[in-house]
Amino acid sequence: MVAPVKSVRFVTFGCKANQYDTQVLREALLRRGMEEANSKADLIVVNTCTVTAEAGRKARKLIRRIAREQPTARICVTGCLSESEPEILRTLPGVQWVLGNGEAKRPVNFLRELGHEVDPEELGIPSGVTEFSGHTRAFLKIQDGCDMACGFCIIPKVRGASRSRPAAELCAEVQRLVLAGHVEIVLCGIHIGHWGRDLDSNLAELMEQLVDIECEDREGRPQPFRLRLSSIEATEVDAHLTSLMADRPDRIAPHLHMPMQSGSDLVLRQMNRWYDRRTYLDACARIQARLDLPAFSADVLLGFPGEGEAEFAETLAAVEEAGFARLHVFPYSPRPGTAAAEQSDRPAPELVRERRAALSEMAAGVAEAYGRSLIGRRDTVVLEGFVGLSGRYQRVRVDPKELTGLPKAVDVRLAQDPTSPLSFLGRSPLPVA
Ligand code: SF4
Repeated sequence: MVAPVKSVRFVTFGCKANQYDTQVLREALLRRGMEEANSKADLIVVNTCTVTAEAGRKARKLIRRIAREQPTARICVTGCLSESEPEILRTLPGVQWVLGNGEAKRPVNFLRELGHEVDPEELGIPSGVTEFSGHTRAFLKIQDGCDMACGFCIIPKVRGASRSRPAAELCAEVQRLVLAGHVEIVLCGIHIGHWGRDLDSNLAELMEQLVDIECEDREGRPQPFRLRLSSIEATEVDAHLTSLMADRPDRIAPHLHMPMQSGSDLVLRQMNRWYDRRTYLDACARIQARLDLPAFSADVLLGFPGEGEAEFAETLAAVEEAGFARLHVFPYSPRPGTAAAEQSDRPAPELVRERRAALSEMAAGVAEAYGRSLIGRRDTVVLEGFVGLSGRYQRVRVDPKELTGLPKAVDVRLAQDPTSPLSFLGRSPLPVA
């Protein structure tokens, strides 16, 4: 039996789903009586990501540093890297446990792995989480895993097939999070557009239930909140979901993050994505026609095998046509175990760097144009301190002098008055009033 630990520190790499997974473990360990520490601790839980080679490198580097600086700490590595390269992780200094994404990541099993005999009833561990302490936004993982097989992606191998959490459980969790003080709930997962396929339901049906939730505090006062969808495939934003977003702008932020990956049909085929450029752009146009100035953000993967100058030019044009409010540009790195890892016709690294700079610059201009189109409109900004996120995904800074107390959300009108206390943050700050 391993001696129980008294203090624990959590380090999380990667996506919102991983942040959520860490919170599940955090709540279980703290309920068990452990204290959370920000630096030195008996136990360090490193929740890893393996989506890029860089993510793996960063996690290994951090583990080595922790072992050097805190030689007595016991390190537990979990998350996607612990599925994709457990043998390598086991050889790192200080690593005592390597726990994958499967059963071991359930809180009760996780505690047992650490040598804590626990009775789940006695711990009262709810399904999901109860809060994201210190934050006004909270994540809600609605499903895990993915049934697709994109050529560049290792995630289906390390997280398995898509599994949806039951709607009733999710409704209860939204209520719990809102009553805990969170004013924005971000629905996340690995492939959220597939929510419900294993439950004979779909995402729009889940959203219908979530938007109707009413929360009241102990004095009977209604608690306002909004939902935001995190990454969702453009082809999975169907008419039902779009209508719901159009009808309930008070409850669903008019923002969609829809990974595009490339604007070239040839590259999309090489990637084994299931749509072509026109399908993606038509989905954007259809949503734009139904919603009031929705914000789109996206990921683009540059340097994938087969990407030549013509394919890159198609991506530039697609980014301009979609009018993204924000674009995340990633250089492709082959992941062992993926279909694309064996493909060799990749553009040279210096070319990828040049394309990344050119695409980022064009995307910043497109985002700025979208931001300008919002001037004069009202929006609700969910604040963390004096900086917040509008419903349409604009970072907004608020002058503390204009606020009474420390509200979690404020309604603002975005405008061009340079003396205004509110402004967009970003490449070209836009004054607002
Ligand atoms: S849809 Fe493709 S990129 Fe997204 S998790 Fe599944 S396999 Fe990976």
